[in-house]
Parts: sequence; C-alpha cells; structure tokens
Amino acid sequence: MKQDSISELITTSGDSFISFLLWCTGGTGKAVLLSSLNIAARTNLTKIEDDTREADIVQTKLLEYIFRIQKDTKYGIQHKFAQIGINEFLSVCPLTTYDDYKDLIKEVVDGGKYSQLVSEPITLFQETSGTTGKVKLIPRTNQFSLRALQAFQAVEYVAQSHFDNLNTTCQKGLALVNTTPNKFTPAGIPRGTGTSGGLSDALKKFKLANDLVSIKYSSPPPVFLIPDSESAYYCHLLFGLLDRQVTNISANFAANVLEAVQTLERHWRQLTEDILVGRLHESLDLDVATRQKLQTYLQPNPGRAKELQTYFETGFEGILPQIWPRLAYVQCITTGSMQIYSDALRFYTGHVPLYSGGYAASEAWIGVNLYPERQPQAYVVTPNTAFFEFVPEKLIDQDQPPTVKLTALTVGESYEVVVTTLAGLYRYRLGDVVKCVGFHNKSPMIEFLYRRQGLLNLLGEKVSEDVVLAVLSNTFSDHLLIDYTCRYEYSENPWRYVIYLETKDSEGLFYQKEEIQHQMDVVLCRLSDRYRDLRATNRIGQLRLKLVCRGSFSDLKAKLLLRGYSDSQFKMPRLITDSTTINFLEARLLP
Ligand code: AMP
Repeated sequence: MKQDSISELITTSGDSFISFLLWCTGGTGKAVLLSSLNIAARTNLTKIEDDTREADIVQTKLLEYIFRIQKDTKYGIQHKFAQIGINEFLSVCPLTTYDDYKDLIKEVVDGGKYSQLVSEPITLFQETSGTTGKVKLIPRTNQFSLRALQAFQAVEYVAQSHFDNLNTTCQKGLALVNTTPNKFTPAGIPRGTGTSGGLSDALKKFKLANDLVSIKYSSPPPVFLIPDSESAYYCHLLFGLLDRQVTNISANFAANVLEAVQTLERHWRQLTEDILVGRLHESLDLDVATRQKLQTYLQPNPGRAKELQTYFETGFEGILPQIWPRLAYVQCITTGSMQIYSDALRFYTGHVPLYSGGYAASEAWIGVNLYPERQPQAYVVTPNTAFFEFVPEKLIDQDQPPTVKLTALTVGESYEVVVTTLAGLYRYRLGDVVKCVGFHNKSPMIEFLYRRQGLLNLLGEKVSEDVVLAVLSNTFSDHLLIDYTCRYEYSENPWRYVIYLETKDSEGLFYQKEEIQHQMDVVLCRLSDRYRDLRATNRIGQLRLKLVCRGSFSDLKAKLLLRGYSDSQFKMPRLITDSTTINFLEARLLP
C-alpha cells in the first residue's frame, strides 16, 4: 500500500473492499493490514527525516505553496499573495493573534463562505480547549488533517519500533480517547475539538476506520463515541482489562491516562464483577443502542476476573505491567502543564516508559519526538506542517517583534512559536514558549517550557508554569501532588500570589501550612531572580498557600467541561482570574 493511501482512505473515503478482504482473510488479513499501516507510518517518518535534512528549502516551498493556494482568499488578496515573496511576507504582513481573525471567522461560521478564509472547504472548526482563555474556532481543512495524520503515524512508528520492536502480529493498544458529538455552525460546518471531531466523523462515515480501530485497539469502535467521559473511561478499561495482550496505552495527555487509572482504582470491584459475569454495569451513562452493541462483545470471563482481583487486592503501585505483562509503553503528552500528572502516573506505570510523542495544537502540528529516551522529552520541529518563525523570549512582550527562522535558532535560547498554516492563519502567535536544545539535521529540537497565558506577572517578574511546578516538586513529594492553580491577590498591600493546591494529604499538611508556604516562597526566590528582588524590596508579598479538599480539582474540571469541551483536550488553567472559578475554589478550602 502506498505512502498516503491509508491516511487518505481515512480522511477522504471509506473502503469497503479492504473491509471485505479483512472479513475473508481473518487473522492473516489483520496482520497484513497492520504491516501496511507500519509501512505507511515508516514512510511518513522517512519523509519527516528527509524534510529535516532540507528544512530551509522545505519551509520556503511550503510558504510559496501557501501563497499559491490562498491567493484568492481575503487575506491573500489584501496582502498580494499572487506577487509576494518570503522576505516581503515577513516584512509587510504583521504578526497576528486570534483577534485578527475572529470577525472573518465569525462571518464564515455564520455564512459558510469558506473561500474568504481558505481555498478548500473547511472540514471542521476546531474548538481550542478554551479553558485557559476565550473559545477560539480554528479552521481545519483536508490538507491540514492529512499532514497532521502523517506526523501522528510517524510518532506511532517511533514508539512501536523503539519500545515494542515493531511487533506487527499482536499489537494491541488501549486508546483512552473519547469524543463529544459534533455540533454544527449556523452554516452547517462541523465544530468540535480536534481529536473529538476528526475521530467521531471517521467512525461514523467510514467502515475502514471502524475496522482499523477494531484491529489496533482493545475497545470496540462504539466505545470511542461515548460522550460521557467517566463512562467512556470505564468501558475502555473494561475491554482493556479483558485483553491480557495489550501492548501499549495511548491518550492525548498524561492527565487522561491518570484519570483512567484513577477510575480503575475507584471502580475495580465493579469492573471485575462485570468481567466475571460479562455485562456492562447498569450505572453507566450509555444510550440503549450503544449498550446493546457493546453487550454483544462481552461474555463471562471468571478466570480473568479472578486474576485481576488478585492484582488489585495487592495494591496499585506499578499495577499496569502486572495487568498487562506485554505492556511496552504509555504514549501521552507528559510535558508542559502535563508534567504534574505524569509524575503522579509513574506510581502506576512502574518500569513501563512514558513516551511524549508529539507537540501539536489545533492551529498546527509542531513537532515529533524522535529521541524517546531523552529526558526531558523534546520535539523535532516538522518543517512541512507549517511555516515556522520564533520570537526570542526577551522580546515576547512587544507587539511586532522581529522573528527568527526555523533553521536559525540558537541552542540554549528560548522563543515563542509563530506559525503560518495551510488553513488560513498567517504569522500567528501561538503563545507557547519553547527552548531550542539542539538540532536534528537542520531542524531544531525544542523542549516545551510554558504558555504565555499562564505566566504569573504582577510587576514584570514573569514566573512561568514550569517554575511554579518546580517550587511544588521541591516542597512536596511528586506522588502527593494532585493539582494546582494560581491567582493574584490584589486586595492586600503588597500584592501577592495565591496558590490553590490539592494533595493526597492536604489534611495532614494543614497544620504546617504557614511553614510550607514560607518554604515555597524561599524556593521561588531561589528559582526566579526577579521575584526575589521584588520580595526583597517588599513590592510583592509572600505567596499564600490555600489547601483545598480532595476532589476539588476534578469538580473544577467537570465544571469547566460543562462549557462543552472534550475531556481529551482539557488543560487545567494555571492562572485564574474570573470570580466564578475563584469563588468555586474558595468554597472548597480546608477549614
Ligand atoms: P489545543 O489547541 O487545545 O489543541 O491545545 C494546544 C496546546 O496544548 C499547545 O499550544 C500547547 O500549549 C499544549 N501542548 C500541545 N502539545 C504539547 C506538548 N507536547 N507539551 C506541552 N504542551 C503541549
């Protein structure tokens, strides 16, 4: 099967012929399809490798291609894409943010005339998680999806070849992904989160997508369409537990894996009971049709139920490789705001490695992790998924700072990422700050540092999320931390930070709170020179620690998800400013 065939089949057409072949050839057909997928994935990886060798040329060609295809859009006409060259583009077109597009996007959302924005139809308006700021609707097109899918396949290939020796005969993944039903814009264009929208669409439209899911994953396809995240995790776990041969676990974020494992910890008795008798517990929030479909996959399995019960009764430390002896890796994003959850996750994964394979946003795919063993995990920028520029960190406060091209980054320096995409964003500031830690051929390798939105910045001190997490990790042992967020306290003089923290033993820590918050302040002074200076002159007061009771952050998450965002894409805001969220946490303080 040729390089793009599998990807194109999924993104553009169904293929009942392949489904028929699979049905006829059974196990052999599956092995052949898995091998074909691996070949397609390897070709995609080779393509990325080749691109990194000529990153400068690939970037130039990509930008020229964008000029060509978008020349008749509103932005293309306004900025003369038909005549423009790269240097002119960089000097004449300003850096942008979402606000520069929101009116035009609204017009397309309401009226449907996509050609004002992009040259090909918009397949999805992706909702960014929005929990960290205002909801943004980012257009997605087929060309965009295809390149992202190719990068995604390359990541899977790296994982399988590195951790599982490319075992094609019996790969089985437990994919912790759930989707929310697609909504539609007034003009009838689907809208939803990136992961959610793409997957639910493929499963509903294409028989092949269902076949692929059945072959690759332990959960039957209907599980991926369960909107209620708790029930979805439960069903993924149920089918995963039934399959002793699971070789990998995957999810978008470490937070998703952690949540699933905690669901297991809470519900293991009920899960083993369901496995024993071959049923789906009545308490699950499933519609009748889904329940009936899933029930057909189940039958009593007393042997597995007994085996699992023995593991669970012994405790949950290092439980995953016990349940699944062939488990070779867990693939999920562990960097940035996911670090706190990956630290907690290691308690359950034991010796099984965590692989943070990709760095991607709704706006563009940015990088793939080609060095799975490297710590901290880092990403090689993929030169063909967007045209990249970088704003040096010291200039990120400027409105129109000069930028550096992809191949010209300096190792050791940090930058904000700027993308020009195939789907209508030009010189768009992503708000992510990364550090260049080396090069892979001509493409930089970057570590994710922080999101600008979450910077604590009362008086220019700019304390980033990674620094706050370092303060917490310095003060508490990693497995104690559950979650945190911060806000500013303006009602006191001097102003200060308030950190809301949930730990596994907040009650125990409560009586040492004064001491602990002093210690945290000392560590923060050590990690941030500017904060130390402001503290030394008493222009910022000592940070205040507020311990919240168990379950507060999962309740907060549930509340934020009510806005309609996908659980798979959720990121806890690290700086809260709205009074509703603040009051919500204030009401959960330990007495
Ligand atoms: P969304 O647009 O909702 O898909 O979220 C995309 C954002 O998630 C990015 O801009 C990053 O801030 C964050 N993100 C994505 N991948 C990673 C990663 N590998 N490490 C850290 N943060 C990431």
